[in-house]
Amino acid sequence: MRLILLFLFSLQLSFSQNLVLQGVNVVPVNTNTIIKGCDVFIKGGKIEKIIPASSLPYAKNYTVVDCQNKYVMPGLADMHAHFPDEKSPIQLQEYLKLNLAAGVTTIRSMRGEEYQLALRDSVRSQKKVAPNIYVSYVLSDKDSLWTKDSVEKIVSNAKLKKYDFLKYLGGINATNMNYLVESCKKNKMSIAGHAYNRSLLRSVDAGFTSVEHYQPVLGLYMKDSLSFNKNIALLKEKQTALCPTLSFYHVYSFRFTNEELLKRNGMQHVSKKVSDEWMKEYSEAVSGTQKQMGDNFETKYKASYQKQFSDFNRVFKKMTDDGVLMLLSPDDGFFNVPGFSMVEEMKLYKQAGLTNYQILKAATLNAAVYFKEDKSWGSIAVGQKANLLLLNANPLENIDNVSKVEGTILNGKYYSQKELLK
Ligand SMILES: [Zn+2]
Repeated sequence: MRLILLFLFSLQLSFSQNLVLQGVNVVPVNTNTIIKGCDVFIKGGKIEKIIPASSLPYAKNYTVVDCQNKYVMPGLADMHAHFPDEKSPIQLQEYLKLNLAAGVTTIRSMRGEEYQLALRDSVRSQKKVAPNIYVSYVLSDKDSLWTKDSVEKIVSNAKLKKYDFLKYLGGINATNMNYLVESCKKNKMSIAGHAYNRSLLRSVDAGFTSVEHYQPVLGLYMKDSLSFNKNIALLKEKQTALCPTLSFYHVYSFRFTNEELLKRNGMQHVSKKVSDEWMKEYSEAVSGTQKQMGDNFETKYKASYQKQFSDFNRVFKKMTDDGVLMLLSPDDGFFNVPGFSMVEEMKLYKQAGLTNYQILKAATLNAAVYFKEDKSWGSIAVGQKANLLLLNANPLENIDNVSKVEGTILNGKYYSQKELLK
């Protein structure tokens, strides 16, 4: 079934399109500025030149997109994505399409599977229209399966199969972790994922390239707020990135009304069947938790999440200001519409006090920095890959404006959101 899907996503493919985004306001993201009224030339999938807007007619072999009053920024990177599984109400083809329609041009798949490697390669060779994908090899959390030799076999095999990185879920005792770290060094593989032993510092120690979810940061801060500045410096020095995935937990904190859930960004683009199924799952989760918590549901469950969020927000802003590399993803789960819920995550970053510029960076350039590919994507400059997002309003002025998508440019080809969603 997976193989068939590869051929289904059948938007028209063309080898290269020469484009001019005419009269566009550029949000380059590598600096906190906006360059008003530009003509952005795109050729061979890359940004060829950026000049002041001109009314002169262009050479015939350029397709002109009228971008008066529009804003172009780098395409978004969802850095903690889960591809749909058999039980997901949204299936793979729809998942990729929604992502693209929301302006996501890069996906880091945290639940990698072998079929995703072929998908990634066909996207890279432009045989398929979908966001660029990085695939994880998910490590087993069963220590009993591990020996020095088996660790080496797992890592070198993942390397051979061309997985992009290893995802750490949980488990693995100290001896096996040492084998793993050694083997990763030898095979030039990186590890990212949940905090090792739930400890941010141990993960940094093991050389994790990123640590997922907000709890490890909060845990460390609560345990030892005095050495927190020292720890921030350590994260910067080791270049450990953080991906807090707040949106997932905010939904699970049950703080939203049903009406608010149904209004989340992108809900207008999912079918009634999906929305009904999510509401059913959600109601079951609420009543299940209520049953389990009894009288403590409001005072302990809901209130303790709110306290965690506000405690985390303070640390989050400080770490961002101090230059820790922040990534962005809403994670998976009900009412997180693929791609579109990136904006929901951005709003939570805003609530934490991050500036719009810091948020845009986390959603674009920081991802490219994380992959050490910022020389080729993640900002708008001559020579960069033309994976871009065209908006109808200024995202630096209001972060909600990232939801006002006009179209997505992928490998230098323009797709209007309407065309993608029809
Ligand atoms: Zn996840």
